[in-house]
Amino acid sequence: MRPLIAGNWKMHGSLAEASRLAEELKGGASGADLLVCPPFLHIQAVVSAVQGSAVAVGGQDCHAAAKGAHTGDVSAAMLRDAGATHVILGHSERRADHGETDAGVRAKTEAALAVGLTPIVCVGETEAQRLAGEAERVVETQLSGSLPDGFAEAGGVVAYEPVWAIGTGRTPTEDDIAAIHGAMRRVLVGRFGKAAEGTRLLYGGSVKPGNAAAILALPHVDGALVGGASLVAADFLAIAKAA
Ligand code: 13P
Repeated sequence: MRPLIAGNWKMHGSLAEASRLAEELKGGASGADLLVCPPFLHIQAVVSAVQGSAVAVGGQDCHAAAKGAHTGDVSAAMLRDAGATHVILGHSERRADHGETDAGVRAKTEAALAVGLTPIVCVGETEAQRLAGEAERVVETQLSGSLPDGFAEAGGVVAYEPVWAIGTGRTPTEDDIAAIHGAMRRVLVGRFGKAAEGTRLLYGGSVKPGNAAAILALPHVDGALVGGASLVAADFLAIAKAA
């Protein structure tokens, strides 16, 4: 499967910095698909900057409704209209900061699919859950609650991001990543059938140029969702090269 290397820029950078970073990524795609997810306000500028290149652009969230009285929110159609092709949904920072639930993430995922955006749905356990031996069960519960019917058939992407590995420089062992990704594949194939054999399963959480090759070589790891290292073009491209 062709890997997907996605950058989640989170709430970083100025408009000028976003455009510059996007420019630096142009022409960098190799054997992997490249995606960057800037803050909402920078999406249009980044879409312009990468025009004519293989770099795709996505949002970091969208509202579940098509339109309406939802102050401060952005619809999936608005993202699409701005030139985005993907949207990250249910990131643990949104689950924590905005109380997003599995049911809410599922509704947003349906909204994304309805307008033809590719959703990247994030799941992952906290450190306490991992220490209690519950990582696999937590991820399976999040998957069954967050993914709508038709998800795999529509090309939806899943990202496994252990909460305790995000921005900490710590990662699970290779065996632990492989175990969770194997379990996710089993759950998805069990629910969606053959279509889920082609569902891209990304790993996210402290992916750097130094650990990318080993992580991306693991079975059922079909790409990476990169935070901090996606803000430095050379690092992001080095991760893509390792895929
Ligand atoms: P870091 O790569 O900074 O750990 O962030 C991972 C992440 O949350 C990507 O969505």
